[in-house]
Amino acid sequence: MNIFEDYDAISQCNKCGFCQEACPVFRSTGHESGVARGRLALMRGIIEDRVQWTKELEDPLFNCLGCGACTASCLADVPTADLVIKGRAEYLEKVGRKPIHKLLFEQLLPYPKRLHMAARAAAFGKNSGMSKVAKALGLLRILGRDFAKAENIVEKLPPVPFRGLVKPGEYPGTGDTLRIGYFIGCGVDVIQQEAGQESLKILKKIGKTVTVLDNCCCGLPAWTYGDIDAAQKLALKNLEAFSSQSFDVIVTDCSSCASFLKKYPKVFQGDEKNQDLAQAQTPLFQDMVEFIFKNGYSTPTGKSPIVVTFHDPCHAVRGQGISRENREILKNIQGVEFREMPEADWCCGGAGSYALTHYDLSMKVLDRKMKNVESTEADFLVTSCPACMIQLSHGIRRAGLNTKVCHISEIVTGAKPKG
Ligand code: SF4
Ligand code: SF4
Repeated sequence: MNIFEDYDAISQCNKCGFCQEACPVFRSTGHESGVARGRLALMRGIIEDRVQWTKELEDPLFNCLGCGACTASCLADVPTADLVIKGRAEYLEKVGRKPIHKLLFEQLLPYPKRLHMAARAAAFGKNSGMSKVAKALGLLRILGRDFAKAENIVEKLPPVPFRGLVKPGEYPGTGDTLRIGYFIGCGVDVIQQEAGQESLKILKKIGKTVTVLDNCCCGLPAWTYGDIDAAQKLALKNLEAFSSQSFDVIVTDCSSCASFLKKYPKVFQGDEKNQDLAQAQTPLFQDMVEFIFKNGYSTPTGKSPIVVTFHDPCHAVRGQGISRENREILKNIQGVEFREMPEADWCCGGAGSYALTHYDLSMKVLDRKMKNVESTEADFLVTSCPACMIQLSHGIRRAGLNTKVCHISEIVTGAKPKG
């Protein structure tokens, strides 16, 4: 990958500074290198040979959340988050990559069984206190410079993955015709399993058949890290598996996975054969929110009214243009009072594994989100991305709020407030 090819796009920045207001990183640090204008200026400097590829570039390139808020407020429509990923890809080639990422992207994420084993080992470490020993020995730093600090973001790790409870394969539904593929994101598979169970109930109500897929990671973590090669391998593995089966729709309850699945043709830019394969399957992919909205599914809460607010995952609102649908779904549930929170579409600071490398910054972004949540006095903070759920739950514990975090599927089926 070479950012020279993007000189025109990078040069579209007219340095107006409108992106400052929208950028969660700039609003937390006040550093010009942490806003779109600064990042673009650096990349332009590299292309014009005024800036060299050194480790000094790591922070400006890697502390971007990729939230896309800058582009949404940029009159020149500069796609900074995408350009930063290209910058990262070239950084990895020129300056070097960390062995842990190679292990993660090439040895774990393509193979669900290995990922499950790693998750089980992590659950054992956490539940037995072994990870405290590893922390004391400094071993956790291997996983990311702030891993030791970030360890408590995940409160508990289930001992068995989702696909250990619900085996991949076809299940009968009560619908008339729809053949649904259910794409399991890594977040649901290893952590947010209640969300997966409720999503599956909805899919079974609507579909004639629901196939729990034996997919691997969608590839988004590798892509955002700048490891394009690893992302392509993961995407191809999924595309080949999907094309051997016949579905009317492939649904995922992770908005981040959904946005990346829809992006597969872009992932194979310049590779006609695989781009065609991706193009053929892209119309099948649906975010769970879209699926619920299109099929008009809802269950009354059945208890006293609950107050609900919604956090827009970046990959839903800017990645897929989904924001009206989730609100409509929630407002139409009998017994739900929907309260909009300020800055609902601001990034929560989760951004995948961002906290493992930028814990303090991630917490500053998160604390701002929590003030906004608190102002709604909501009983439930609802969202549609398991990674956001993990980060938001950590924020709720940090802030000592009574609000509970859940997936939109859990409200729609009525599992919350029951559970
Ligand atoms: S808003 Fe767009 S054009 Fe203006 S400084 Fe930011 S990136 Fe550049
Ligand atoms: S993508 Fe988000 S974090 Fe990155 S520069 Fe744009 S607004 Fe800032």
